[in-house]
Amino acid sequence: MTVVDMLIRDARVVIPGIGIVERNIVVDDCKVIALSNDGVDADLVIDGSRPGLYAIPGAVDPHVHYGVFTPIERAAETESRSAAVGGVTTMMRMLRLYAPYRERLDTHLEASKGSHIVDYAYHASMLMDEHPEEMEFCVGKGITSFKLYMNLRGDIGSIYMDMDPYSSDLVQGMVDTTERLVEATVAKAASLSCITLVHAEDPGICSVRMKEARARGLDGLKAWSTARPAESEHKAIAFVTDVAERYGAELYIVHIGSSLAIDAVIDARSHSNSRVYAETCPHYLTHTYEFDIRGKVVPPLRSKDDVARVWEAVINGVIDCIGSDHVANRLAMKMGHGDVWTALAGFPGTATILPVMLSEGVNKGRITLERLVELTSLNPARIFGLEGKGSIAVGNDADIVLIDLDKEQRVRPEILCSYSDYTIYDGMVLKGWPIYTILRGRVIMEDGIVVGERGYGRYIARAPKHITTRDGFTQ
Ligand SMILES: [Zn+2]
Repeated sequence: MTVVDMLIRDARVVIPGIGIVERNIVVDDCKVIALSNDGVDADLVIDGSRPGLYAIPGAVDPHVHYGVFTPIERAAETESRSAAVGGVTTMMRMLRLYAPYRERLDTHLEASKGSHIVDYAYHASMLMDEHPEEMEFCVGKGITSFKLYMNLRGDIGSIYMDMDPYSSDLVQGMVDTTERLVEATVAKAASLSCITLVHAEDPGICSVRMKEARARGLDGLKAWSTARPAESEHKAIAFVTDVAERYGAELYIVHIGSSLAIDAVIDARSHSNSRVYAETCPHYLTHTYEFDIRGKVVPPLRSKDDVARVWEAVINGVIDCIGSDHVANRLAMKMGHGDVWTALAGFPGTATILPVMLSEGVNKGRITLERLVELTSLNPARIFGLEGKGSIAVGNDADIVLIDLDKEQRVRPEILCSYSDYTIYDGMVLKGWPIYTILRGRVIMEDGIVVGERGYGRYIARAPKHITTRDGFTQ
């Protein structure tokens, strides 16, 4: 009798569109080879039948910033370890190169090899006028998604770029995302059957309002929200979706956290021949501007009413994906001089996507496990063309997370194993945690302990989605 690599016995497998089915998950040679009720001999048998346990596909975090405050060869290890803790088996790096891609992309791809514990893919940010001309080159390297930072322009165009590999110097740069750069990127992406990710804030509105708020001596996250009002998100989404409409392009609006931004997405979808996907982040579902400066982020945390509206959009399908917008920084640097104006935007979050969504979504009765799987695995894998990822199905990679819906644990930065030494969820008790993370048939995390090896994580070179259905999914 043949012996397979792994058997997850009597698992409750969550499959969107079908439901929760009790099956043995049979894994061999990195893949799921059967979902059956038959017994089989395996080198490793995991009992999936314990009350509270469910098998879900490994999460795909489509929005991760790492390699900015430590170089990629180090950040890849620390942040993919954190991903493994949180049940994330594929992380997508938001690469920010302040140089031509032709000159520097290979160095980054090379330096990130051999350091990841989970699988990873790259998005390429369009930060310089010549970048859109390099999109074909990027496609040749397996990058089929491109990011625009509409928030960066003029006097508010400064941003930390990715460090050069093997260096520890911060790289600051000025970005001027003109209407021309927006149009050039969206048009070129459409012609290559690629998708454009958009940070949608209007820099003109933000620049004026930030100066006003600062001049009035305001501080704190509420001031930050006033200084970067949701109207600016609405205006930027309206602009970029109009451009996309002209080219029949696919857009993915990142980190939506306000009611007005949701209105703009719904409006764009109602009269558009383009496809507009929408992402939110866990923090827009759990935090408001009443929180302290650790919660400084762009776009800002908003009001209670906005949080309720984002939940509604998560529940009713307006939101397609949950991304973390993870920024691997440390608290001392983040806080600047202690006021909201000098603090850095962004905080870590990849490890807490699933615990937050399980605790605040599933266990509070807002969303089903099936909906969770759509948001955290199925949709990001389809939208970004990650083949073999996103669902527990025969022939797919055996990227499986066993979650314990009953497990309660207090969040502390230490348990998240990131380079970051803080979390906005510090002290919160969350109910529902990954207890096994399995990547391509290998256990990489068990009970909060990462046992995966550095270098096991593989770069996923993607191909453009040439034929798309009305839903934007490859046929
Ligand atoms: Zn981001």
